[in-house]
Amino acid sequence: MQDTDKTYDIVVVGGGPGGYTAAIRARQLGLSTALVEEEKLGGVCLNWGCIPTKALLKQAELYRAIQNADEFGFEVGSVSYNWDKVIGRSRDVAQRLAGGVEYLMGKNGVEVVPGRGRITPARQVEVQPGPGDSFRLMAKHIILATGSRPRSLPGIELDGEKIITSKEAMSNRCRPDSLIVVGAGAIGVEFAYFYNAFGTRVKVLEALPQVLPREDEEVAGLLAESLKAQGIEVETGVRVEAVEKAAGQVTVRYKGEAGHQQETVDQVLMAVGVEGRIDGLGLEAAGVRTRRGFVDVDERLATNVKGIYAIGDMVGAPQLAHVAAAEGVAAVEFIAGHQRAPIDRGLIPQCIYCQPQVASLGLNEAAAREAGHDVKVGRFPFQASGKAQATGDTEGLVKLVFDARYGELLGASIIGSEATELIAEIGLARKLEATYEELLDTMHAHPTLSEAVMEAAGAAFGQALNI
Ligand code: NAD
Repeated sequence: MQDTDKTYDIVVVGGGPGGYTAAIRARQLGLSTALVEEEKLGGVCLNWGCIPTKALLKQAELYRAIQNADEFGFEVGSVSYNWDKVIGRSRDVAQRLAGGVEYLMGKNGVEVVPGRGRITPARQVEVQPGPGDSFRLMAKHIILATGSRPRSLPGIELDGEKIITSKEAMSNRCRPDSLIVVGAGAIGVEFAYFYNAFGTRVKVLEALPQVLPREDEEVAGLLAESLKAQGIEVETGVRVEAVEKAAGQVTVRYKGEAGHQQETVDQVLMAVGVEGRIDGLGLEAAGVRTRRGFVDVDERLATNVKGIYAIGDMVGAPQLAHVAAAEGVAAVEFIAGHQRAPIDRGLIPQCIYCQPQVASLGLNEAAAREAGHDVKVGRFPFQASGKAQATGDTEGLVKLVFDARYGELLGASIIGSEATELIAEIGLARKLEATYEELLDTMHAHPTLSEAVMEAAGAAFGQALNI
C-alpha cells in the first residue's frame, strides 16, 4: 500500500475494546475512519484477557460444581478433565469473538489497516505492515489506543515458561503442580482460584495488607477467608524481592513481618500490574507528553498535541475494558464537537470473577467516611436470600453505603456468586443519584439474588424485611 491521498477524519491506532469501539462510534457519526492493528482485532480483552479468562473461570466453577454434585442429589463418581480441552475451549471462545469484531468493522464501514502504527511529527500515522515496508495515513484526528502489557518487578525477568504472565497462565501447556502468584489484584485472585480448582497447590503473595487492595476491607477480608477455605494459601503484607530459577523450578524470596522467607515451586505468575504500551509510537518526536509510563490526557482524552487523543489502558488506571470503550466513545464525541460531560470516574464498576465474585462501584465505607460523609451502611447476607438458598449460592453479602442526611447511595461492595451482574443496578442507581427509599421502592422480583440489594438498602435505615 502507498501513502493515501485521502485524509481520514479519524485514524485509530490499536484495535482493542477502546480502539474498535471508538472506530464504530466514529462511523455512526459519519466520520471516515481507519483502524490500524498489528495483531488480531479485539486486543488483550478478547484475545488474552477478559474473555478467555472468563471461559476458564466458568470451567473451574463447573468442575467444582460437578465434584460437589452429591449436594444436589447426583451421583457422578470420580470426575477427571482433559487439560488441553480446558485450555482449548477458552482459546476457541477468544477466536470466535475476535472474528465478531472483524464483522463489526465491516458492517460499520471501518477501514481496518493491518500493521504497526506510529505517529509522525507531522501528525500522520505511519503504518508498517511488515519489515522494511511502510506507508502513511493522513488524519485530521488520531486516537491512540495501544493498551498495556504485564509488568514485572525490578530484576525479575519474565521468561514465559517458569516466570509467567497472565497470557501464559491462560495457555499453559501443562498444569503446574505448584504455583506462586505474586500480587492479589484482579489477575492474581482470578488465576489463584482457577489453578487451585484444578488441583494446583497455590500460594498468593501480596505486598499490601489485604487482597484486592482497592476493595472494601470487609469484603476483601471475606474473599481472603473464602480463598483460604478453598485451599489457597494467602499471605498479605509480604513483598516479593527476588525470583530465581534452578533445576526446572523457581524459588521466590519474599519479606514480611516474619522476616525473610522463601519457597520453591513449579511456576510463578507475576500479577503486579501493567505498563502502558507507549514505546515505538513516535510520541516523543511528536511532542506527546507522558507521565510515569502512560500518556497524559485531559478529561476530554486529548493529549497536549492538538488533534491527538489517547484512550484505554495506555492512559493509566483503572485498566478495564469497559473504561477503554467508554473513553473511545467519549473521545470521538468530543472530536465531533458534541456538548457532553466527561466520563464520571465515580461510576466505574470493578468486577473480579473468581468464586465468590467481587464487584464494587462508587465509594466504599472507608472512602465515604474519609470523604467526610455521615455514613449509614446496610448489609444483606446471601445466607438470608431464598434464591441463594435454593441455588446453593449462600456465600457473601451485599454491602451498601449511604449518606445519612438525605439517604443518597454512595457506593456498593458485593461479594457472592453473581456479584458482577448485580453491580449493574448499583451503577444505574448511582447515575440517577438514587436514595435508599428509591432502591427500597423498586420492586425486585422474587426469588432473585437482586432482592439482596433492596434488602441491604432497607437494612441501612432499619427497614429490612427478611433479616
Ligand atoms: P493490580 O494492580 O490490580 O494488582 C497488582 C497487585 O500486585 C497489587 O495488589 C500490588 O500491591 C501487588 N504487588 C506489587 N508489587 C508486589 C510485590 N513486590 N510483592 C507482592 N505483591 C506486589 O494488577 P493486576 O492484577 O496485575 O491486573 C492488571 C490490570 O488488569 C489491572 O488494572 C486490573 O484491574 C486489570 N484486570 C482486571 C480484571 C477484572 O476486572 N476482572 C481482570 C484482570 C485484569
